[in-house]
Amino acid sequence: MRPGRILRLVLQSFFKKPVTRNYPVVKIEMPQGFRGKLKFDPKKCVGCKMCMRDCPAGAITISKTADNKFMAEIDLARCIFCAQCVDSCMRKALEMTKEFELGALKKLDLTVVTKDDS
Ligand code: SF4
Ligand code: SF4
Repeated sequence: MRPGRILRLVLQSFFKKPVTRNYPVVKIEMPQGFRGKLKFDPKKCVGCKMCMRDCPAGAITISKTADNKFMAEIDLARCIFCAQCVDSCMRKALEMTKEFELGALKKLDLTVVTKDDS
C-alpha cells in the first residue's frame, strides 16, 4: 500500500465511529431469544420434574418444601443454557432471561435457590 493511501486511511479513522462497544461502561441489551440466566417461578411449578429429567447437564433440582410448595436449585456452573428445561415445562415455570453477567468468585455463589416465600 502506498504511503499516501495509508495516511488517508489513518486520517479517515479519526472521524469514524468506533466499531467496538464501550462495554462494560455502556451496558449491552441482549437480543430477543437470548439464553441467559434461568428464572424459576415457584408459583407455577407443580413438581412434575420433567425439567430435571430432560436437563442434559443435571443442573436443575426441584424439591418439595415443608409447606408443600416447590423450590428449584439451579447450578449455573453446570448449566449449558440450552433451554431444554424451558421447553419441557408445560407450566411455563421456567424462562431464560437476558442476564449474562454471571461471574462469581466462589462456585457456591453459582447455585441459585428459588422458592415461594409468600
Ligand atoms: S417441569 Fe416445570 S412444573 Fe415441572 S417441576 Fe420443572 S419447573 Fe416445575
Ligand atoms: S438450560 Fe439446559 S442445562 Fe440449564 S438447567 Fe435448563 S436444561 Fe439444564
